[in-house]
Amino acid sequence: MVIDKADRLDKFMEGVIARNPGETEFHQAVQEVATDIIPYMADKPIYKDLRILERMTEPDRVISFRVVWEDDKGDLRVNRGFRVQQNNAIGPYKGGIRFHPSVNQGMLKFLAFEQVFKNSLTGLPMGGGKGGANFNPKGRSDREVMRFCQAFMTEMFRHIGPETDVPAGDIGVGSREVGYLFGQYKRLVNRFEGVITGKALDFGGSYVRPQATGYGAVYMMEEMLSHHGEHVEGRSCLVSGSGNVASYCAEKLIDMGAKVLTLSDSSGFIHAKEGLTQDQVAWIKELKTVRRGRIEEAAKEFGLKYYKGKNPWGIAGELVFPCATQNEIDGEDAATLVKNGIRGISEGANMPTALEAIKVFGLAKNVLHAPAKAANAGGVAVSGLEMSQNSLHLQWPEAEVEARLRGIMRLVHDQCVEYGIQKGGHVDYFKGANIAGFTKVANAMLAYGVM
Ligand code: NDP
Repeated sequence: MVIDKADRLDKFMEGVIARNPGETEFHQAVQEVATDIIPYMADKPIYKDLRILERMTEPDRVISFRVVWEDDKGDLRVNRGFRVQQNNAIGPYKGGIRFHPSVNQGMLKFLAFEQVFKNSLTGLPMGGGKGGANFNPKGRSDREVMRFCQAFMTEMFRHIGPETDVPAGDIGVGSREVGYLFGQYKRLVNRFEGVITGKALDFGGSYVRPQATGYGAVYMMEEMLSHHGEHVEGRSCLVSGSGNVASYCAEKLIDMGAKVLTLSDSSGFIHAKEGLTQDQVAWIKELKTVRRGRIEEAAKEFGLKYYKGKNPWGIAGELVFPCATQNEIDGEDAATLVKNGIRGISEGANMPTALEAIKVFGLAKNVLHAPAKAANAGGVAVSGLEMSQNSLHLQWPEAEVEARLRGIMRLVHDQCVEYGIQKGGHVDYFKGANIAGFTKVANAMLAYGVM
């Protein structure tokens, strides 16, 4: 029986790999979902007969375009932009834009695929998409970033809209870039409408959107722990990254009485044995978003230890929040973390754990592990709330948005428990998130017939 399930998964993955050659991150994301969904569909022939999973792994469309812009020296630069519109069965396409030199079609397809399940889990009417460009904003002047964003939007505007596809930020796309992108869209269509989320409060943004992903990852951890009669308070935490998600994750952890031992960037990590203070986190936030400096400077400023070229996973801590990038925890890192006795992982970044690492954590009896599609759903959830506020031409108070975010993270957690609970009460959060996210989208696709 087990062999039969493995055979079906292997066969399904052979097809996915053959149809999407070289897109290894996309294969990884599909495999992680299919591992749970194929057995789930075994006694539900309607999903199998109507090839729902095959249809979900094929994006509705992938748009690829040239972006030409002029640098400060007057030289022309050429980049490649993308928008992957993965699935709009339950709402307009929704997902961030990433500017990073590593961006390619396969990476964005993995992110768009994940986004479909995540958005479904929030309970809000949002489909899944993702976009970006192989542009590196690091070291570029504000004017260069502005010209790039304007050139990018000059093509992308024709493919998006408040009821069609609503992008947001991601790696390399923060409030500065969102401002330039939205400004150019508004100029091109001559309409002020909620086409991008993550806007500043002055022009249609929502309270708590910048904080939402990091805060949400902490709330998810608190939900998992309290389900077992435990709490975040008093725990030591390892956080990676020092961008939007990591900094607000650290802020909320300190707020809730936990100790944040580490933060990192792509050059190395800092270790604060006694835990970072709220003032230090605020300083680092300013360093990364305004001065655009390196985390090493924080070590110098506060007399902390800096580990060049390393990630924080060798440090002993109880709760783990990977908030930097995909595959930042490999099998070996996972084994080290388990050996050091960690209690929980809440994934702030998308797909930060390699398949090997997921296996290692799964075999460790005492580790609670929330996958990204559940743990970082707070960001897109508040983006969904920003869309609602934009269409109502209203701005809800901060306390109201924060309360809604808290409620949505509880809902996400409870759906994981409902679909992921095992004999003996252990919760498989990966299985729970995959099945809960899948059913809503799959049922909508069934209702529409063959398309
Ligand atoms: P930012 O650009 O604000 O920060 C990214 C951070 O990760 C930086 O500290 C960066 O370091 C580090 N980083 C990036 N690439 C690598 C790498 N290859 N190796 C090591 N470190 C790296 O991005 P966000 O905080 O917005 O996003 C972080 C993660 O969270 C991503 O996986 C994103 O998809 C996910 N996410 C973000 C959401 C949001 O609301 N922003 C919503 C849901 C998920 P450096 O400064 O050196 O580049």
